[in-house]
Amino acid sequence: MGSSVGATQDASGSELRIGVLAMQGDFAEHIRHLEAVGARAIEVRTLAQLEGCDGLIIPGGESTTIARLLIAFDLMEPLRARIRDGLPVWGTCAGAIMLAKHVPALDRPPIGVMDITVDRNAFGRQIDSFEADLDVTGIEGGPLHAVFIRAPVLRDLGPAVEVLAQLEDGRVVACREGVLLATSFHPELTEDSRFHGLFVRLVREARAHEEQRQVATS
Ligand code: GLN
Repeated sequence: MGSSVGATQDASGSELRIGVLAMQGDFAEHIRHLEAVGARAIEVRTLAQLEGCDGLIIPGGESTTIARLLIAFDLMEPLRARIRDGLPVWGTCAGAIMLAKHVPALDRPPIGVMDITVDRNAFGRQIDSFEADLDVTGIEGGPLHAVFIRAPVLRDLGPAVEVLAQLEDGRVVACREGVLLATSFHPELTEDSRFHGLFVRLVREARAHEEQRQVATS
């Protein structure tokens, strides 16, 4: 399945733990890909599970439902706090909607940590779902086959946000702001694990950086 990123031990030798928010949506597919690239994947439904993670994936599904469940499970505020503290997070589709600071058509506030605007269901009824081959910055080995399902579009990117992939018409469908990633599409619904490999590398780098910072300040 796709290319492997090799071992997931960081410099200190301890294993990376990647959480997948498992309230609603296609979290099982993300877990399958994380395990394929050698990461330890954890289903996250509680605060204790969230606290044990070095990084988190928020899956696709229905953003209104995920937002409601985060509030109901008392995870919205702790998750915001951990992200502000530097937790790497990748949101796919509904997960990307949750990360955006501005979502015009969401019935409650998203997590709201990325300086982007996300238009839900931006491709209209005729092409609710489609597929495209995309060049993605940071992913080697040829284009990535991307599956879009009632997908959002990412726009009005802030100055610290980097475009990772665009459709031929220029619309942005993947971007990065520091340790936060947003994709309009679903890498977890293909057999290609390269995007999960990219995220695991980012989490490993973030953790190595944090460990260096702790050594420097101790
Ligand atoms: N349209 C959904 C929403 O707005 C997202 C769809 C998906 O995650 N595939 O939440």
